[in-house]
Formats: sequence, C-alpha cells, structure tokens
Amino acid sequence: MTCYRHIFTTLIIAFFALTSVASEPAGCEPFVVAIDAGHGGHDHGTRGRRAREKDVTLAVARLMASKIGERFGDSVRVVLTRDSDVFVGLRERADIANRAGADLFISIHVNSVAARSRGRETVQGASVYTLGLHKSDANLAVAMAENAVIELEEDYSEQYQGFDPNVSESYIIFELSQGDNLNSSIDMAALAQHYLTDYAGRADRGVRQAGFLVLWATRMPSVLVELDFMCNPRMERFLSSTEGQERCAEALVRALADYRALHPHSRRTAPAD
Ligand SMILES: [Zn+2]
Repeated sequence: MTCYRHIFTTLIIAFFALTSVASEPAGCEPFVVAIDAGHGGHDHGTRGRRAREKDVTLAVARLMASKIGERFGDSVRVVLTRDSDVFVGLRERADIANRAGADLFISIHVNSVAARSRGRETVQGASVYTLGLHKSDANLAVAMAENAVIELEEDYSEQYQGFDPNVSESYIIFELSQGDNLNSSIDMAALAQHYLTDYAGRADRGVRQAGFLVLWATRMPSVLVELDFMCNPRMERFLSSTEGQERCAEALVRALADYRALHPHSRRTAPAD
C-alpha cells in the first residue's frame, strides 16, 4: 500500500516538473482554502505534559495563513474557521467553509492514544485522513475521539441527526459519503502525507479513511491531518516548538501548492450550463 502511495506521489511530483503552473490568468477568481484549527475554547483537544492540541492547531493554521499570503498573494484566499482561542462546533466549522465556497478544506489535529495503551510514549507519525468507512479499529478510534467534541455542543443529537460518536454502528453513514469529492480529497491527502514525511520529518503512518463529522458536513474536497502524537513526549516537544510548527505549516502549504496545480478550480468543475 505504501509502495502504491510512493508511486502515486512520484507521478504527481513528475507532473509538476513537466508542467508550467506559474502564471495566473488575469481576473481569475481566487482559490479559496478553508483552514480549520481543531478544538478551541473549553475544548482543549488532547493534552501532552504541557502542550494542548488546541494551541498547536491554531499556531499551525495561522502560520499556514501567513505563508499562503506571502507565497500566493491574491490568487489564494484563506478562510480560518477560528483565529483565536474560541469554541466552534463541528457543523459550524464545515458551514464556514461551505458559505465561503471553499475549494478545499484542511482540518488540523494532533493525535493521541488512550491513557493506558502500551507504547503510548513512543507511538509517533503523521496520518492524513479522508472521509470514508474505517478499515481498522485504530482508524475508528481516531474518528471517535475527534467526533466526541460534539458532546460539548448543545442539542448535538438533534444537530447531527442522532449520530452517537461513541457507537461504531453510527459510522455506517460514512460509507457512501463524499463520492464526488473523494478522488480530489485523496490527492490532497497523498500530497500532505508526502510533505509531512519528507519535509516535516514525521514518521509515515499513511493516508487513511474514517468517519469524521467535520469532513462529512463539508461540500468540497476535504482532509483531516493528524500531525503527530501528543502523548509521546518527544513529539510533544516538536509540536509545541516554533521549528516544529513552522515545518508542519510549510509541509501543508507545499501540499496545497501542488494540489492547486492539479485542481485549480475544483469548485467550478460542475458542467457549465
Ligand atoms: Zn483533534
């Protein structure tokens, strides 16, 4: 599987080597990327010894926004689902991207494993998820942990149509989701995984699929990035360092640059009338 991913990524990189993507046609609408810093406010996300997921995700999202501004100017518009330490519900995060007509949605998170798990302090690596039905209990556990934040929202059962984040049967709804956007989402996931490994130096846990509510509620290609593991003290140090956050942000912006060359106007791919 890893082998296929490397072949795929190599083909994409080769594509860029052979294709000129430098100039923008005048008057072209900007490419809109929604960057979603996971958690916030009273939802701290996962915690390390000192660091909190919500702070790492916000720092990386802000760094991405400033790098995108420097690199792409007016040709890319960034929409942040939060730009401060505030709580935003999962559906609202998706709706911010939907209302903005985003071409791409990138949700940023930090991973962790349960408190009594063996290897908790040594587990490491980045994984980038697209929406889909999980193929392993480990992938389901990650989605369950991230989806559980809806329990902090009022009337969550009503808002999410009775979805229970802690019951595996609930996850069947994701099996047929995101059909139109799945291939584009997988392209972005493969590129992000490539740069998080090669540029940011994360161990490679591969592109995966699982049922994340925030991806399910978006109407554009979307990925959820788990940068590394907060429960591993060495990774916690990396994730909370300026250098580590800079590396992660740069990796994701490089992935965005390549993705944009492949899908310059993904939200305008519907047949013309
Ligand atoms: Zn998270």
